[in-house]
Amino acid sequence: MTIFATLKPALQQAIEVAGYGEPTPVQQQALPDILAGHDVIALAPTGSGKTAAFGLGVLQRLDAERIATQALVLCPTRELADQVAKALRKLATFVPNVKISVYTGGVAIGPQQESLSHPAHIVVGTPGRIQELIDLGALKLDAVAALVLDEADRMLDMGFAEAILAVIARLPKGRQSLLFSATWPEDITAIAASALREPRRIDCRGEDARPLIEHQFIEVSEAQKVSALAGWLCEHSSNAVVFCNTRRRVDEVAGELRKLGFSAAPLHGDMEQRDRDETLVRFGQRSLTVLVASDVAARGLDVKELPCVINLDVPSDADIYLHRVGRTARAGETGLALTLVPPSDAPRALAIIERHQIKPRWIKPSRPAANVPRAPMRSLRIDAGRTEKLRPGDILGALTGEAGLPAASIGKIDVFATRCYVAIEQSQADKAFNALQSGKIKGRKRRVAWAV
Ligand code: AMP
Repeated sequence: MTIFATLKPALQQAIEVAGYGEPTPVQQQALPDILAGHDVIALAPTGSGKTAAFGLGVLQRLDAERIATQALVLCPTRELADQVAKALRKLATFVPNVKISVYTGGVAIGPQQESLSHPAHIVVGTPGRIQELIDLGALKLDAVAALVLDEADRMLDMGFAEAILAVIARLPKGRQSLLFSATWPEDITAIAASALREPRRIDCRGEDARPLIEHQFIEVSEAQKVSALAGWLCEHSSNAVVFCNTRRRVDEVAGELRKLGFSAAPLHGDMEQRDRDETLVRFGQRSLTVLVASDVAARGLDVKELPCVINLDVPSDADIYLHRVGRTARAGETGLALTLVPPSDAPRALAIIERHQIKPRWIKPSRPAANVPRAPMRSLRIDAGRTEKLRPGDILGALTGEAGLPAASIGKIDVFATRCYVAIEQSQADKAFNALQSGKIKGRKRRVAWAV
């Protein structure tokens, strides 16, 4: 019997639908303490299943009939907050009437304030915006029974220490606090000391819990990096996330890869939120094969079946290496990490290898790029979404019904509040576009455009 068997039937049902057979090590170790109401510090790498560990714990203890915010989850970035909320909603599918809302910065605060007049049971957000909403009196915390600090090390990296402490100071004293972190930098101790009471410590960073990643390294001059990358991508015919150390580099490299014929796009913090979301959706829908990203923007990225992560630039810090490569080989899959090392960065690369006791495989550069792999899908955007009660089935119906597209040519469908995205196989994409533009979806004409 696993710890899952002690959960409410509604949660067990969600676990079954999600296809989780066995609990992951962090779930097996942390859930019993979480369910018993203890504070917990869990050192767990990205991709270890920690969202479900705290999500199941919080949902088990939640009283859905009480309309008040009972759990607060703080995350380092908007993307991660969105993903955490998505994962929690999935786990809550069979628990009736659970409201889970996300509040993050970078968008107008007015509508968020308004939406809080109907409080969510679980609030997920970034520390700065949550603090603002508390200060405005919009977010009420008196019923909060659980605080989750997710990826606490990254929150500190991003300068959120003060905001986190300010939020903690406003929470009820009797609450439960759960802190998840992939690494344990010095400054986290102060946060842990003020947030947690007699925490149980769980360390899932051991050998067994490590994701199955092959760590490849190539020695290459700075000037040859992009062509070495292009050659490698063609040889492996794989989709990948490519990390660069600066935003400018991200733009440059994405542009160069596009010139070479790759379906590549940049992802960094200078971009509008909407463009960032759209890029992530396109990557998840496989209408982009290469995502060129900065560290901040790629936080929380959880794309299913991401086979490899590439460090076009050696990261400045060994922990960042771990966070980057943690995007592949999630939940027991295998993955590949490639790092391009110009001579001047060799000492840093060696320090990373040493620090994480990596078994490196130094490989030769591939042959120059030829037969650049094409993205299998194209993404269409429809300007209507959840607020108009549009569901994936409505879009699927419009495409396979009147438009006559084979169901197999339709890929992932992502529904947002005011927009939807649908992935269509390249060969059917124009037909789908024309059909959706001239026809109706759920009885109405909708604006349709290519997601770019
Ligand atoms: P996380 O570390 O929370 O980002 O989770 C990484 C991935 O593992 C997510 O895609 C989860 O859906 C998946 N996952 C979580 N728990 C399990 C489990 N018990 N079995 C299989 N996959 C899981």
